[in-house]
Amino acid sequence: MADKQPQYRRIVLKISGEGFCPPGEFGIHRAPLDRVAAEIRDVSELGVQVAVVVGGGNLMRGASFSNDLGIDIATADYMGMLATVLNALALQEALERTGADTRVQSAISIQRVCEPFIRRRALRHLEKGRIVILGGGTGNPHVTTDSCAALRAAELKADALLKGTKVDGVYDDDPQTNPHATLYQRVTYNDVIDQRLRVMDVSAIDVCQQHHVPIVVFNLMKPGTMRRVVLGESLGTFVGP
Ligand code: UDP
Repeated sequence: MADKQPQYRRIVLKISGEGFCPPGEFGIHRAPLDRVAAEIRDVSELGVQVAVVVGGGNLMRGASFSNDLGIDIATADYMGMLATVLNALALQEALERTGADTRVQSAISIQRVCEPFIRRRALRHLEKGRIVILGGGTGNPHVTTDSCAALRAAELKADALLKGTKVDGVYDDDPQTNPHATLYQRVTYNDVIDQRLRVMDVSAIDVCQQHHVPIVVFNLMKPGTMRRVVLGESLGTFVGP
């Protein structure tokens, strides 16, 4: 509805690599890329400051790559981080095709390609209404982009961390294999940790809990959901104190 106001002033949005390709496929595909970009643009146009942390699982995951090719896990993780930069650049192009103003920052310096991640600079871009796309993960191996999203949400003082997934939110079992799995509307950080609910890495939950960042897990595959969440509809699962 036209009179609804955004619930958040600033959000960090986590988009997994799977948001860039059709289900079960690999690589970057035009249709999902453009759709995700349009969804992000729609949220930004509400006047919400948006920083996007991009994953890289559509291109490579460090752990499986390391196993398959006998590459040291740290090296494979660096390769995974570089993959997230590829997604970040593709998302930037797609967002700019929609007319959005963007900047890409990477935690791994690649100054010919994008800015380095500098917290105060990222904040300035956000204040100017630019969508900041964060590639390169944390810049450190042995963690995931979920942890990166939690850290960035904390340091950029985001009002919420929105995690887009391919299901409606957090369930008591895997909804893709168990049709009777129940969707939680609201869970606490401790529920997630104690019951090992599949939301994000424990370290990511821990950072959000310590820094009082609520998490909303929503279905990225259902068009318009992200915008509706930002406008306060209780869709998906809210993770909080
Ligand atoms: N990665 C890393 N450090 C980080 C972020 C990512 O080493 O801070 C590597 C890791 O190998 C991971 C890959 O990058 O498997 C891709 O990130 P992720 O698996 O989080 O992507 P997503 O599942 O969100 O698509």
